[in-house]
Amino acid sequence: MSEHQTPLIATIAAGLMLAFVFGLLAHRLRVQPIVGYLLAGVVAGPFTPGFTADLPLAAELAEIGVILLMFGVGLHFSLKDLLSVARIAVPGALGQIVVATAMGAGLAHLLGWPVPAGLVFGLALSVASTVVLVRALQDRHMLDTDRGRIAVGWLVVEDLAMVLALVLVPAVAVIASGDGVPASRIVFLMLVTLAKVSVFMGLMLLVGRRLIPWLMHHVAHTGSRELFRLAVYAIALGVAFGAAKLFDVSFALGAFFAGVVMGESELSQRATEEAMPLRDAFAVLFFVSVGMLLNPVVFVEAPLAVAGTVAIIVLGKSAAAWLIVRAFGHPNATALTISASLAQIGEFSFILIGLGISLALVPPEARDLVLAGAIVSIVLNPIIFGLAERLSPVERPGKSQQMPSIVPTTLAGHTVLVGYGRVGSHIGATLAGAGDAFVVVETGQRAVEQAQRDGAEVIVGNAAAPDVLSAANVAAARRLVVTIPEAFEAGQVVEQARVGNPSLEILARAHSDAAVAHLDKLGADLVVSGEREIAERMLDRIRDEAP
Ligand code: AMP
Repeated sequence: MSEHQTPLIATIAAGLMLAFVFGLLAHRLRVQPIVGYLLAGVVAGPFTPGFTADLPLAAELAEIGVILLMFGVGLHFSLKDLLSVARIAVPGALGQIVVATAMGAGLAHLLGWPVPAGLVFGLALSVASTVVLVRALQDRHMLDTDRGRIAVGWLVVEDLAMVLALVLVPAVAVIASGDGVPASRIVFLMLVTLAKVSVFMGLMLLVGRRLIPWLMHHVAHTGSRELFRLAVYAIALGVAFGAAKLFDVSFALGAFFAGVVMGESELSQRATEEAMPLRDAFAVLFFVSVGMLLNPVVFVEAPLAVAGTVAIIVLGKSAAAWLIVRAFGHPNATALTISASLAQIGEFSFILIGLGISLALVPPEARDLVLAGAIVSIVLNPIIFGLAERLSPVERPGKSQQMPSIVPTTLAGHTVLVGYGRVGSHIGATLAGAGDAFVVVETGQRAVEQAQRDGAEVIVGNAAAPDVLSAANVAAARRLVVTIPEAFEAGQVVEQARVGNPSLEILARAHSDAAVAHLDKLGADLVVSGEREIAERMLDRIRDEAP
């Protein structure tokens, strides 16, 4: 069979291969892998010679990435979290949408487009991309922090608003065409949509919340890992699809709520692990599919309009978000993170602008502007995040309302304990009991709270970030204990600490011989391999029992 008979396989295979090659290249050149994935898309796209992947298929594959990502985010979110961020996320997201839409409409006016075109264009610039936002928060271990939750809540509200916008835009098209439609008809349509969304949420919260954890529990008891994995995928994709088909809710929102209700089960940790590998592969395809859409000519033909679009996304939206978050009395660090995470656009913008064009509301060149704006803002996003972090480095936990941005420890000659999970919390509790001076470095909110309950001094942040390690005063510490399971990250921590303090005693955790060798090489004094220690303990017992 040729590539033409198997477009799905061709698109997946070419998408993953190109993303891999360009991702590797980006890594070599020390730029963000996202840039590589987007370039891979440009190469696979119709505007460059050679192989052209199937565009609609690529977009659908990307949607699977969105579903799995939002499902994963939902697993981290409890209903309580959702309600607690609603107070700022609802007015924040709505306020930002209004400001961004007004600015977009302003630019459209300068370009000589009619008012309805400007409104749709502005709306398209106002919604951030789920994939970009969630990946940025995940990379920085921020999903489980207050700021991360606000950003995700904000995104959920934006998604909801867009569901309504997708109903409203066709109605505007009818009005613009001059056929009088009674206002009551539009109000009716909006109400029907709202009712459908409410019914979906009500069903999830009343029925899904009981049914899904029960089902997961049941499947876990079959003892079949395969069935458990299938259950996770079936529920995530099934609920998302059903939400979209039956209730006009977006795939992303459907998946998010599936995650939220499954998160009520104590099996959610396992579900997260199962959903991860597939999720990451499809999220990469998202960037490839965005790159495929880009017609690079727009940068030459309309550089000013592109610059204006990017300015609205990156500067205008950020300024609006920053002001709103500050107005609600949140600290500067929170405002900066939220501004940075929303300073980009993505999948929803393409859908909205596509709809506008198909209804002849918006001139076709709007699509190129939105795409160029998306690509530039996605490429800039890590840089903007870096800037935001530089402006407000490390936070201390506790009263999140008036947190100072960085409070380095005053300890010296102490122990720095990285990670406070199953391994680190054991060590910390014992150190505390013995009255040893130590400081904990943690990213996860729950682990941070546990450490504080145990009376430990905590620095919240990714230990692999240089400013976090210096806040823990590694330079003057006696010992560093790295208890995080991920070898690459542990390696970054060990390497920096060793450079900063040659006499430091470094203990590290590993799970494979390769990881042991890696950490050894980077300067750890003792690397303890979990699996090996388990085997040793079992062997001890076997030897003891031998006659
Ligand atoms: P466990 O595997 O149960 O010992 O948990 C590991 C702990 O390390 C978790 O609580 C994570 O939140 C934490 N952790 C993982 N990576 C990092 C990191 N880069 N910086 C700080 N804490 C981390």
